[in-house]
Amino acid sequence: MNFDSYTDRVVGIAAALVNALTPGEHGGRPVDTHVQRRPELCAAVLGRPVGAAEAAELARLAGRLRPVFLAAEDGATDRVADLVNALLADYRSAPQLSRHDGEPWHLHFTSAGGTEWGAGCATGLAVVVDSQATGRLGVCRAEGCDRVYVDVSRNASRRFCSESCLNRTKVAAFRARAKAAT
Ligand SMILES: [Zn+2]
Repeated sequence: MNFDSYTDRVVGIAAALVNALTPGEHGGRPVDTHVQRRPELCAAVLGRPVGAAEAAELARLAGRLRPVFLAAEDGATDRVADLVNALLADYRSAPQLSRHDGEPWHLHFTSAGGTEWGAGCATGLAVVVDSQATGRLGVCRAEGCDRVYVDVSRNASRRFCSESCLNRTKVAAFRARAKAAT
């Protein structure tokens, strides 16, 4: 799937924030989202240092992004649209052309109501809904995993959050077949 590069990037960040900052399981193990680890988890997603206050904002945002992926996984497009509209309203996303660090002019979405990533993620997810592409947002189907993903494969075939979950599921299915055959 190819939206514009901005949308690809922010929707990828949205999934990464959900996976890093919301409790649950990844590959059969609990995800450690302890408040003291948040700045480090956010820094890994954004590729820059993040302070405790911003990390708390991002964790709040991640908690609101997760239901969007869950609703998309259930095929509940109306619910996805309602959730994204609420995010757009709360973060009051305002488009702004910007040019810095030698980059060409590009869009930023500043926020009048919280973290700038809230405005960016809300706008990116709105583009996904507008493109009738909510099926590209999903939750991992692996046993013991509830992490989310954005499917950018050509044929919309992705079902797992990661290679490791895909491989674990394949191995388990292979073993089950082998056992059934004996
Ligand atoms: Zn997974």
